[in-house]
Amino acid sequence: MDIGFIGLGEMGAVMVVNLLKAGHTVRVWNRTPAKAQALADAGARVVASPAEAFGGDAVMSMLADDAALREVFDAALLAQAPRGLVHVNMATISVALAETLAREHAELGLHYVAAPVLGRPDVAAAAKLTIIAAGAAEAIDRVQPLFDAIGQKTWRIGALPQQANVMKLAANFMLAAAVEALGEAAALLGGHGVAMRDFLDVVTGGPFPGPVYAGYGGMIAEGRYEPAQFKARLGLKDVRLALEAADAVATPLPVASVLRDSLLDAVAHGDGECDFAVLGKVAARRAGRA
Ligand code: NAP
Repeated sequence: MDIGFIGLGEMGAVMVVNLLKAGHTVRVWNRTPAKAQALADAGARVVASPAEAFGGDAVMSMLADDAALREVFDAALLAQAPRGLVHVNMATISVALAETLAREHAELGLHYVAAPVLGRPDVAAAAKLTIIAAGAAEAIDRVQPLFDAIGQKTWRIGALPQQANVMKLAANFMLAAAVEALGEAAALLGGHGVAMRDFLDVVTGGPFPGPVYAGYGGMIAEGRYEPAQFKARLGLKDVRLALEAADAVATPLPVASVLRDSLLDAVAHGDGECDFAVLGKVAARRAGRA
């Protein structure tokens, strides 16, 4: 397929490489042009504006947050988009914005598919993302070859795009809770002279297997929070979005409120660009050991 790709951060850049490897033509645009240039060697066509990325069959976007989406996908950009084009937004954004974007696209004869993903940049590089897709079935059918190039499985969970965003936010809420628990466990163990590494061998070999406990736990054990694969700043964004979505349906999320404060603590101490695992440092600091 001939597609555009907007947003070449930690996630977007590696996704583009896999789309190119699968034989797709990819026009890339990024606010900081150097990141687009870096993909030219891999075969991407660098374009000078988001509008130029809209030249093909579909556009994928992987921008940071609601504000970035609104800044790039403004009314003028959408108005000039060719009718029938499919916009696949893979970023983690608010439920409210997903609903608004779906409506705005439909009014202009464009298709909007929400396809947030589970998996960090290393998982994306291995083309093993879990893709949660929602939108019109015909639109998802058209972009399925793109999903096949970047993910291990696409879950089609409904016709309303925002449903995919709710599912992604619920998953990231659980992720944040797991990383917070790992950080607090490490602080407890540290206070009693037990190595986090030994603890992880026991729990990941038993009741807590899987990439979340082993991956984030390993980073906490090593106190290794840079370079970030998933920035604490973005994790805070996701917990806030979960709280906002819960608020809209009068649903208390008391644990999410604690997670927001822990992530705010990280940001307040200048660690917003560190990896999400920096929640381990927050817990150690609370215990007077960081
Ligand atoms: P990132 O490395 O911070 O990249 C963010 C991208 O958004 C960059 O291309 C950045 O452009 C662009 N951007 C930010 N503000 C902008 C603005 N105002 N106007 C235009 N462009 C703007 O983030 P990421 O880790 O790739 O994450 C991207 C999305 O995927 C986020 O929604 C995140 O929550 C989600 N996600 C991340 C992970 C992960 O593990 N990293 C996993 C699943 C989902 P510049 O290069 O110019 O800064």
